[in-house]
Amino acid sequence: MPLFRKDPFGRAWVLLSPERGLEPSAFGSVPPAPERSPLSPESKDRVGPEIAAVRPAGSHSGAADWRIRALAHPAQLVSSRPTEVGAGAELFKQAAAYGHHEIIVEHPDARQRLETMPIEHLTEVLRFYRERIALAAARPGIAHVQLTRNVGRAAGAVYDHPYAQLLAVPVTNRWVEEEVAVAAAHHAAHGRCLFCHVLEREIDARERVVTQNDAYVALAPFASKTPFETWILPRHHGSSFSTVASNTLPALAELLRAVVRAINDALDYPPYNPTTTGTSSCCRA
Ligand SMILES: [Zn+2]
Repeated sequence: MPLFRKDPFGRAWVLLSPERGLEPSAFGSVPPAPERSPLSPESKDRVGPEIAAVRPAGSHSGAADWRIRALAHPAQLVSSRPTEVGAGAELFKQAAAYGHHEIIVEHPDARQRLETMPIEHLTEVLRFYRERIALAAARPGIAHVQLTRNVGRAAGAVYDHPYAQLLAVPVTNRWVEEEVAVAAAHHAAHGRCLFCHVLEREIDARERVVTQNDAYVALAPFASKTPFETWILPRHHGSSFSTVASNTLPALAELLRAVVRAINDALDYPPYNPTTTGTSSCCRA
């Protein structure tokens, strides 16, 4: 029977119709990547300049021996020149797009996928994400940082090579703002964190828990807004991925890999868009 469900983290009611199940073929499949891509270490294609990288000790910036690296996004959506946002006309406000936009190439091998990388490498990728998010958030005037992985051309990927893009902007994100407001109201009414409260109930109920380990829990949210939406929440309270404890990153890598493998097994490698925000309380896929 179709149901309305109130999103506990926002104001929306979601109309769910479980009987209208989608088949794996409804999503399409991402083909395997070619051996080389414009983001490969040996590529002569013009990509953005290197901003940061993980490479062996004694190596140097720009060398081809990187394991993970951040490049200026080749199609910069924002300029690094600060602008004041919010001033101007009463009804039709606009401002030059200011912020920071980079891509993170997660592995030198274009054929590697997030779910096939060794756990040690994926842990290093998560640590790199954390550093890049924290540095972007510390830039003057930045109000929102978002890291997205577009997997598959149908999901907006520009390259077949595994990569993420980081966008930092001086304007707030309305969905995160809504979550923060709802969580603050919940804390005022109940004296506890909304995310930790929901997580506790979900672990007890075991109805929507996908998988879990000592540090993280993957679950299907009560009021999913997209098919197969999956959240990964920390067991220990934390307010931003940029401050997540290093000793829990291997556990996050394991859970993330298990979730992506399960989605690929069930849906035959669908295109997808997981997002991590530097300003909300959790990591969501
Ligand atoms: Zn909490």
